[in-house]
Amino acid sequence: MAQGTSPRKQVVIVGGGLGGLAVARALRHARAWVMLIDRSNHHLFQPLLYQVATSVLSPGQIGWPIREMFKRQPNTTAVMGEVTGVDKERRRVFVTSLDRRDVPVEYDYLVMATGVRHSYFGHQEFERFAPGLKTLADAVAIRNRILTAFEQAEAEEDPTRHRDLLTLVFVRAGPTGVELAAALAVMIRSTLKSEFRRIDPRSARIILVDMADRVLGAFSSILSAAAALLRLQSQGVEVMLGHGCS
Ligand SMILES: Cc1cc2nc3c(=O)[nH]c(=O)nc-3n(C[C@H](O)[C@H](O)[C@H](O)COP(=O)(O)OP(=O)(O)OC[C@H]3O[C@@H](n4cnc5c(N)ncnc54)[C@H](O)[C@@H]3O)c2cc1C
Repeated sequence: MAQGTSPRKQVVIVGGGLGGLAVARALRHARAWVMLIDRSNHHLFQPLLYQVATSVLSPGQIGWPIREMFKRQPNTTAVMGEVTGVDKERRRVFVTSLDRRDVPVEYDYLVMATGVRHSYFGHQEFERFAPGLKTLADAVAIRNRILTAFEQAEAEEDPTRHRDLLTLVFVRAGPTGVELAAALAVMIRSTLKSEFRRIDPRSARIILVDMADRVLGAFSSILSAAAALLRLQSQGVEVMLGHGCS
């Protein structure tokens, strides 16, 4: 994978998220070969994942091919592969791609921009019940789970089961939880409300739970109060604060 015998330095960037892209773009005029490695071939704009999870946008609208983004940046190449290890002594990373395992790639400079994973507060066993929202696959899984609940409820003859099926709980009232809950409330009121006969989609309970004493705890208390009262509660979202998980 080395690019010729040029004396230019080789910069390897692992991760084509917002961080990795910013570094690669900043190096567009540098005397360097830049290799951007990501396990997927597209950049994902995570801030709009909640719109995919609530059917407002399609997956293709928030992902862009990394290769295309750098087509006018001749010193940069995109490689689709998973970085499985780093050998700091010999300055190389190991890349597993579709048909090759642990291929060594040498670097002069290495940038690790691999992002973060969501947290289950020490309860990893929660993951199989409650997917996080970090990837397109997560967003599509949440979207399918929500829509399937409404479909099941419409097909369910026993009205006492409707309430269970249409109770949707979001844990953590940070930006993602608040956006998801509010967007779902809007979707129910605008799109779903007239599409069902046996159930009234507006009877769905959307519950947002957090152990903190206010939503959007990282923001100012004025913004927090506005989000909680003006937006969430007026949309019918039930906000339960001071509730943790054990
Ligand atoms: C639902 C949601 C909503 C958000 N809303 C906002 C917002 O409104 N405003 C805001 O400022 N921020 C928001 N954020 C946060 C923002 O999206 C992140 O801070 C930002 O995406 C982090 O960029 P990053 O490059 O560090 O990581 P990421 O964007 O996560 O990118 C990491 C990349 O590394 C790749 N990767 C990881 N491991 C490997 C490996 N071993 N080999 C190869 N590739 C690998 C991944 O495939 C990924 O493409 C939101 C995040 C989420 C999840």
